[in-house]
Amino acid sequence: MALRRYWGYESLKSLQAEAIACAMAQCDSLTVLPTGGGKSLCYQVPPLLDGSLDVVVSPLISLMKDQVDGLRESGYPAAALHSGMTAAERRIVETALRAAEIRLLFVSPERLMMEDFLGDLKQLAVRRFAIDEAHCISQWGHDFRPEYRQLAVLRQHFPSASLHAYTATATPRVREDIVEQLQLKDAALLVGCFDRANLIYRVLPKTDVREQTAQAIARHAGEAVIAYCLSRKDTETLAAWLKARGVRAAAYHAGMEPEDRHRTQEAFADESLDVVVATVAFGMGIDRSNVRCVIHTSLPKTIEHYQQETGRAGRDGLEAECVLFYSAADVMRWKGIMNKPPAEAPEPGTEADLEAARKIQLELLRGMQRYCTSARCRHKALSEYFGQAYDRADCGACDVCLDEVEEVGDGTVLAQKILSCVARVGQRFGVGHVVNVLLGADTETLRRAGHDGLSTYGLLKDSTASALTALVYQLVDQGLLTRTEGDRPVLKLNEASAAVLRGGRAVRLFQPKERLRKRTARGEKSMEGVDMELFDTLRRWRQEECQRLGIPAYVIFHDTTLAELARARPGRVEDLVGIPGIGEHKQARWGEAVCAIIAACVPPGRVSPSR
Ligand code: ADP
Ligand code: ZN
Repeated sequence: MALRRYWGYESLKSLQAEAIACAMAQCDSLTVLPTGGGKSLCYQVPPLLDGSLDVVVSPLISLMKDQVDGLRESGYPAAALHSGMTAAERRIVETALRAAEIRLLFVSPERLMMEDFLGDLKQLAVRRFAIDEAHCISQWGHDFRPEYRQLAVLRQHFPSASLHAYTATATPRVREDIVEQLQLKDAALLVGCFDRANLIYRVLPKTDVREQTAQAIARHAGEAVIAYCLSRKDTETLAAWLKARGVRAAAYHAGMEPEDRHRTQEAFADESLDVVVATVAFGMGIDRSNVRCVIHTSLPKTIEHYQQETGRAGRDGLEAECVLFYSAADVMRWKGIMNKPPAEAPEPGTEADLEAARKIQLELLRGMQRYCTSARCRHKALSEYFGQAYDRADCGACDVCLDEVEEVGDGTVLAQKILSCVARVGQRFGVGHVVNVLLGADTETLRRAGHDGLSTYGLLKDSTASALTALVYQLVDQGLLTRTEGDRPVLKLNEASAAVLRGGRAVRLFQPKERLRKRTARGEKSMEGVDMELFDTLRRWRQEECQRLGIPAYVIFHDTTLAELARARPGRVEDLVGIPGIGEHKQARWGEAVCAIIAACVPPGRVSPSR
């Protein structure tokens, strides 16, 4: 009932029922659902059902603000308390809390742990805590936040409340860490499917990244795109370049004035801006569900980051593209950053911790690199990274399965050339050096080692460093070559290498094709039966409303709701019941406007009576 009334949903998504049942039974839980899996609903429903006060711990103010605005727009009694509020605003919330008018209170971990605040909260009989973005508690996660560590004392302060952790990205190791740190008791572990079937993944060798980015954006003209860059300066130059080419683009990074950042966010939310060129600082607070493309102009430092950043594409479930431009130089760039000694001398006794943290970072980076350089189904690789089997042989939604990657001429001969070069350099050198020898490069190390005299020197001189590096990593990934662990990894031959060298084993290697097969930006399957002209008209109406009212688009309707409206073409306001995303509240508020637009837009194939 509540589902329909507040959200207009007909049914629960996978694992939502289980998570809500845990919360209702006050049994601790850890729910791991991919971005877009619907985690928020799991903690929004229980306090409504039993009239309790629940607390949501959320890391970013912008994130909680958007959620609270969205909820209140649907008539749901939610509030937030954070440092960005005036004393007067805070008092209003506190009064409402004491009057038991609030079901869900959003707070930041810092605020929650303030002593006065904890004291006040204890008076209010909180029934449950939902810890959003719970991976922030783990050093093995990609987004460790020390303030999350303090949440470990919640258990002692609120012995009768149950704890429910939520995250989108958690390798098995991070999961264990969350359970331990939060001291979850007999926690139910609910792990959803990580695969985002509606995302198309592509990894392309980075050549001219600006041009490549512009091409990707052109595949999604007029739609929402996020392009991630490594540095602040990169975001600004790329955004300026795109603007000069007529793209509605803007830069976004943490070094900008808060007002400027805010303006960019708002413009993106109300759809007056198409492309945001950003550092990873942009994202957590973004709730534009119709992002159709996420571009990585450089390598993310972990697969967790990648999963989270690409997770912002296609949250409405419709098709979206994620394209990453890979270069081995970016790997070096990251290593340089990770190996740099800290600016301040570490506190005594913490050197070992720093060293351990650095090892973890390098290991995670290696995982990211492996993902890029192997020619395996991307959906499969990502699922397996998060500990889940992926059974489909052809995902139909990645560069590998879409056949955009081609097999190189004679993989076996090429592999033999690479492997014999590893043997020639005495199995004592890393990837970069072996590639240099094969290319016939002229480097100091190479000359000093006398490797310019080897028979394999210049053996593959027609290739390029990035292409060869990719091939070497494919061999490593296929287990045909070993790359040692440690700070100075070297390439070594193993039993499988010997078999390849003897000619006893065939090898297949891959490279990207010259040209991408063009695909329509909007999912063909998911948009079946949708009157596209009506859909676009509804989107324009929504954009006008957003700008008029100064609210983000999703607060009115998601694209999926608009698509359904353009498919079903309901004639009367009463007929809107049952369209996903339209609850009583939204029906009353927008129903007439929507029906008027539908009535005015002539269906395809029917001639307008006035003509
Ligand atoms: P997460 O926090 O897991 O990334 P959200 O809670 O933001 O995901 O939900 C993702 C999207 O799914 C939102 O657009 C939300 O409105 C929608 N959604 C959530 N639950 C349901 C449901 N039961 N039926 C239909 N849509 C849902
Ligand atoms: Zn695939």
